[in-house]
Amino acid sequence: MLTIGCHLSSSKGYLAMGKDAVKINANTFQFFTRNPRGGNAKELNPADIEAFLAYAKDHKINRILAHAPYTLNACSADAHLRDFARETMADDLRRLEYTPGNCYNFHPGSHVKQGVEAGIAYISEMLNQILKPEQTTTVLLETMAGKGSEIGRNFEELREILDRVTLSGHMGVCLDTCHVWDGGYDIVNHLDEVLAEFDRVIGLKYLKAVHLNDSLNPLGAHKDRHARIGEGHIGKDALIRVINHPALKHLPFYLETPNELDGYAEEIALLRGHYQDEEE
Ligand code: FE
Ligand code: FE
Ligand code: ZN
Repeated sequence: MLTIGCHLSSSKGYLAMGKDAVKINANTFQFFTRNPRGGNAKELNPADIEAFLAYAKDHKINRILAHAPYTLNACSADAHLRDFARETMADDLRRLEYTPGNCYNFHPGSHVKQGVEAGIAYISEMLNQILKPEQTTTVLLETMAGKGSEIGRNFEELREILDRVTLSGHMGVCLDTCHVWDGGYDIVNHLDEVLAEFDRVIGLKYLKAVHLNDSLNPLGAHKDRHARIGEGHIGKDALIRVINHPALKHLPFYLETPNELDGYAEEIALLRGHYQDEEE
C-alpha cells in the first residue's frame, strides 16, 4: 500500500485535515505547525486531537509529518533569531507529543556569511538542547536545493549535523526530490547511484520521508521552485520510479506541488495507479 498525501492547511485543526486527506484518497498528510512566517501557534484543542486520532485510526491515516515554519533559521548570525528558532521548535516538539510517533521536518538553516562549519555547529547545538530522551517524535533534516547559503545542499552536510547530535536515534532525513535534483543529484538517470550515495554518506536507515515534487529548473540549478508531477524537469516517469524503488517504496510520500485539493487528488490517483504493491 502506497503511503501518500500532500501538504494541507492546518488552519481548521487536525480533524479537518484528516477529512481533507480522506477526500483526496490520501492516507497521510503534511502541515505547518504554525503560520509559516513564525509567531504564536494556536492553542491545542484536546477535543479536536482526540477526534482526529479516532478518525485517523478508522481511516488508516498514519505517519503524518509536521513541518516547522520555513522562516526559522537555527544558524542565523543573530543570537535572537537563533533563540527564536530553538524556542519555537522546542514548543512544536512539546505539542507534537499529543499526536505521538510522527515526524517533524525542518530546514536546517542558512549560514549567510558565517560559513558551513559555523552553521552546522549552531544547528547541532540547538538539536542537542531541544531533543528529549523520552520524546516519540522523530526530527527530520530536509535535503535542500542549495539556494543562497542553505545548509543541507549535499548529503555530507546533513551527515555532519547528525554526527554531532547526541540523541541521533530521534533524528532522520526527509528527501525532497525537487531539492536534491536542484542540488545536482541526478535522480532521473541515476536514481540507484544517488540512493547508494545517500546510504554510504548518511545511511538509508535515517531516511524517513520523501517530499515528492517535480522541479521547474534543470539539474543543479539550486533554485527550489516546485512543479506539478510531470510538469517539470524531473518528469512523471522518474517520479514513478522513485515511489517504486525498493529502498523507498515503504516510506511515506508528501506532495508539495502547486495545487489545490482537486489537483492533489489527481496526482494521488495517478501515483496510486502506477504503484506496484508488494506480493503478500
Ligand atoms: Fe520544506
Ligand atoms: Fe520539501
Ligand atoms: Zn522546496
